[in-house]
Amino acid sequence: MKNAIIILVGPSGAGKSTFLDQALKDYSILYDVITCTTRAQRKGESEGNPYFFLSREKFLELIEKDYFIEWAEVHGNLYGVPEEQLHKAWAEGKAVIMDIDIQGAQTLRSKYPQSLCIFITPPSLDALRDRVIRREGQVPKDLELRMENAKKEMAMADQFDFQVVNADFQQCYREIKKIIDDSLGLS
Ligand code: 5GP
Repeated sequence: MKNAIIILVGPSGAGKSTFLDQALKDYSILYDVITCTTRAQRKGESEGNPYFFLSREKFLELIEKDYFIEWAEVHGNLYGVPEEQLHKAWAEGKAVIMDIDIQGAQTLRSKYPQSLCIFITPPSLDALRDRVIRREGQVPKDLELRMENAKKEMAMADQFDFQVVNADFQQCYREIKKIIDDSLGLS
């Protein structure tokens, strides 16, 4: 497919970034879009991994310059997709893959109707809560806000092209692979 876009969407903590990392290892045709954020770096993160970390001021300046094809406020921080990365990937004949929230997926889909959105859902809200705490190594200050947002997001899952439940990583990844293979004509 020309100018392909694969979006892993779903609540924060559902496992999107783990699937994205695995898919990047398995498919050389995929181009990892590194998005920008104003949130603070977590332990183990660095510039470009998994985000470009910007001050709010810089981010707002880039919005003014139309640098982002899409941007959104998620849990009080700004996140945005640099448009230039999509064109770079496509010029190299690659398919872009990215991990963004629902607002972002909806915006991208309206701008690029070929976008294929895979909604990753946690097996339950309790499982999501455990995963978020484990990932952060502590109870994040905004945990309840995230859970509220997750509930709303999960109610919108059927608006997307595919829904997969991340109860078992291997099983869920097999489903994601099949969707990627079919959409890129690799099967
Ligand atoms: P986290 O800060 O936990 O890495 O990510 C929080 C949420 O922001 C996740 O759901 C992630 O998918 C989403 N996100 C990351 N980058 C972008 C982006 O560029 N745009 C939008 N709309 N959401 C993003």
